Amino acid sequence: MTRKVLVLGEVRDGSLRNVSFEAIAAGKTIAEGGEVVGVLLGDSVSALGEQLLHYGADRVVVVEDEKLKQYTSDGFSQAFQAVVDAESPEGIVFGHTALGKDLSPRVAGKLGTGLVSDVTALEEAGGNLVFTRPIYSGKAFEKKIITDGIIFATIRPNNIPALEKDESRSGEVGSVTAEIKDLRTIIKDVVRKASEGVDLSEAKVIIAGGRGVKSEDGFEPLKELANVLGGAVGASRGACDADYCDYSLQIGQTGKVVTPDLYIACGISGAIQHLAGMSNSKVIVAINKDPEANIFKVADYGIVGDLFEVVPMLTEEFKKL
Ligand code: FAD
Repeated sequence: MTRKVLVLGEVRDGSLRNVSFEAIAAGKTIAEGGEVVGVLLGDSVSALGEQLLHYGADRVVVVEDEKLKQYTSDGFSQAFQAVVDAESPEGIVFGHTALGKDLSPRVAGKLGTGLVSDVTALEEAGGNLVFTRPIYSGKAFEKKIITDGIIFATIRPNNIPALEKDESRSGEVGSVTAEIKDLRTIIKDVVRKASEGVDLSEAKVIIAGGRGVKSEDGFEPLKELANVLGGAVGASRGACDADYCDYSLQIGQTGKVVTPDLYIACGISGAIQHLAGMSNSKVIVAINKDPEANIFKVADYGIVGDLFEVVPMLTEEFKKL
């Protein structure tokens, strides 16, 4: 069965987040040969439409309004609803990001449809679309089939590969007008902590530090390794609680959930709450002085040793590549 699928392109600081391109790939699978329509909401975002086309959208619809300059659940759900009214889709895909997690239940509620969230894989099997999502903090996976209504999914970043970018792909970038009214929240300004380098939730390589780094300065060798590998620095809650780094770096049950290609855990014991945020990483390397540390149970490669000796050695070796 072919479907028309709307895919939300998520814009941050004037650029599309990578998960938007991954969502297009998921949208293609759901469309089963039907049409994938990229959706952009904002106050001056139409120039980004071309990129969605390059990554496989067949066409793009833009809602531009100065009330959409900053994200609000109210404003974005009204704008998205206007696109749904104009397009009557059979499928919808968002990224499972802070924005997607906030917006998707509201949109699903308004449409009276279900929502399969945090999808990590999607395949066609036996005539059905099967969605895989982690449950119990990543300890098990459930597979879901949607039998009724609009197929609505949010996809976890870094799990469903985007299509190859192809600049020869083209298509229409049209617009829809939405009447955005009665906003209960007006955001005057967003003050974001200055963050260095790569966005943690989309990073392909993460070097994470725990209480074992012992101080704020102890993160320096980790930052150097992250620089050499083009990765981001993350942390355990132990390190955040000890004030060695900012809570925005926290990975785990009450922090960010990440799935990089490579996760290097340095001086992290491997508490269950930390594993909940990183155990689905593709390759896990653990560096810990304690050979009995729990982190070794999930690690693909374990190095028993002092991180202050091992991390600089790794950095030097990777520099040679
Ligand atoms: P520790 O457990 O103290 O481990 C430090 C490790 O460093 C040890 O294994 C030690 O052997 C090693 N080490 C020390 N020095 C060196 C060295 N020089 N070289 C190499 N290794 C060294 N935690 C999270 O991370 N994320 C969460 O989201 C989270 N949410 C939580 C939610 C709840 C409700 C609760 C109760 C807890 C949560 N925690 C979370 C906390 C979690 O239980 C652990 O306390 C925390 O993860 C421990 O952090 P750590 O591994 O850095 O520290």
